Parts: sequence; C-alpha cells; structure tokens
Amino acid sequence: MAFVVTDACTKDFICASECATFAIHPTADEAAAATASQVYINPDECIDCGNCVSVCPSGAIFSNDELPPDKAHFASRNAAWFN
Ligand code: SF4
Repeated sequence: MAFVVTDACTKDFICASECATFAIHPTADEAAAATASQVYINPDECIDCGNCVSVCPSGAIFSNDELPPDKAHFASRNAAWFN
C-alpha cells in the first residue's frame, strides 16, 4: 500500500519537503516542477507514514485504500510517473 496524490494538488511542494523517504516528486527544485500538473508519490518508496497527508493544505493525498471512487485512477497515475 502507499499514499496517492490526486488532482486537488496545487503543487505547493510542502509534502515533498516533508517526506522522509523522498518518495514525492517532482520536488520544487527539479526541472519537471514547472511542467508537471501535480506531484506524485512513488509507491515503491512510500512507507505509509501519513506525514504528507497532515501537511497538505488542499486535502489532495489519500491512502491507497481510502481513495474516493472518482479518484481511484490516481493510484496508477502516481506509479506511472516513476516508470
Ligand atoms: S506517506 Fe510518508 S513516506 Fe509516503 S509519501 Fe507520504 S510522507 Fe512520504
């Protein structure tokens, strides 16, 4: 299981700076930060700590098993960013 960023993301990059495992990209200083429509969580690096959820001001991040049905496709979309 992993946490998942959805399209409510406003790219403030707070979560990326708070993630202990650097699982969230792009970070603010990466080239893709300017063009990515949101940030994404690498499911292979996420340790399910939940810190990103608590710092996200837009409520964009969900546990994979608590994704709203209309946001379910964001699980694969997050993973795909890292492929
Ligand atoms: S749940 Fe924890 S490890 Fe996973 S992306 Fe969020 S801050 Fe990083």
